[in-house]
Amino acid sequence: MADDRLESVLQQVIARNPAEPEFHQAVTEVLHTLQPLLARRPEYLDQRILERVCEPERQVIFRVAWQDDRGVTQVNRGMRVQFNSALGPYKGGLRFHPSVNLGIIKFLGFEQIFKNALTGLGMGGAKGGADFDPKGRSDAEIMRFCQAFMTELFRHIGDHTDVPAGDIGVGGREVGYLFGQYKRLVNAFEAGVLTGKGIGWGGALGRTEATGYGVVFFVSHMLAARGRSLDGLRATVSGSGNVATYAIAKLQELGATVLSASDSSGSVHDPAGIDLALLRQVKEVERGRISDYVARRPGATFLQGARPWSIPCDVALPCATQNELDAADARLLVSNGVLAVAEGANMPSSLEAIEVLQAAGVAFGPAKAANAGGVATSGLEMQQNAARQQWTFEQTVGQLARIMENIHSTCAATAEQFGSPGNLLLGANIAGFQRVADAMLAHGVM
Ligand code: GLU
Repeated sequence: MADDRLESVLQQVIARNPAEPEFHQAVTEVLHTLQPLLARRPEYLDQRILERVCEPERQVIFRVAWQDDRGVTQVNRGMRVQFNSALGPYKGGLRFHPSVNLGIIKFLGFEQIFKNALTGLGMGGAKGGADFDPKGRSDAEIMRFCQAFMTELFRHIGDHTDVPAGDIGVGGREVGYLFGQYKRLVNAFEAGVLTGKGIGWGGALGRTEATGYGVVFFVSHMLAARGRSLDGLRATVSGSGNVATYAIAKLQELGATVLSASDSSGSVHDPAGIDLALLRQVKEVERGRISDYVARRPGATFLQGARPWSIPCDVALPCATQNELDAADARLLVSNGVLAVAEGANMPSSLEAIEVLQAAGVAFGPAKAANAGGVATSGLEMQQNAARQQWTFEQTVGQLARIMENIHSTCAATAEQFGSPGNLLLGANIAGFQRVADAMLAHGVM
């Protein structure tokens, strides 16, 4: 019965949201784990919670017109999907990348609902962005784009309404320009309207590091549950942005050797362990390509156009983007003896890849649990803004560590309670969904 309803809801979602494969994938992943919960809580079916949770509360799509440095007018598409506000103001990042479309923002917003629920803080789920390509753009162009984007977005957000932050292509610089324009438009210093702010003007110490550190805290708990620790293990990491950078830093601090990093042009394999200072120089300071790292690092090799999953490792952390680890990659990781895979990016593993890893008994940490440290620390930034306080780095990161431990134990305990011990994907989906669904039931039909 519950199975039939789940399948029919899934088919409806696919039919009503055509040509949005990433959104279909995210919904499939969640719905396919909820059967044991629905068997115990039939009221979720009766009250149409599944149908409601799959339909965004509000979607805004807008034109962003701006002038480039040559005076040529450029036109992009901006959007914000305010998916669910059962637990608090809409909350989630903004992504600026040429691949952005409504289906991608919807998958990210849908994931964000349950991720934010797992943090235990009061945050609803949202996501936004634009199909703008920041690559090769000057600082002045980035500023003008951000100002044009905020000139529409500002009327839809607010510290009790919707609180955006960064994602791919949106970091400290962009949040600065976005905040400046918001402040000018509303004529108020409303610090809590955006998170990921600069440290001198409302940002939280530790927010920059939080997603990467959080993934590594999470994977430490996954390993501890199996009687292992990161010390002495070999790790592969994909990506070279904010999440990858701080995941690498924390892995190294905890005694692991990090063998790889990547960008869209390919991967670096560095058997001596990634030189993080060099990686940051190349990617953050020079905004160059990962091949520049290889050119300056004796012993490192460049895997052109490839992801790092062929490199034998004990722990793999996909920290780049969606669907960067497919079934063939998963089989390769399994045959090389990987112990644990934890998702630093959002939905980096395909559904088939997850099946391969779980069937082989590899510990799998799903994104909505493993990478929740970023948004959790955004929640801590909102707390600091509301109290007009700034906590120390140690206070914020200490809280982050406790939140990640709590998310892991919640997922593990929920998996156990629902008859699938060790299945953190099922545990994360059920625990996150249940918190949202109970709030929705309490609020009545809407
Ligand atoms: N973009 C991040 C995520 O995927 C952070 C969102 C936030 O801090 O609001 O969770």
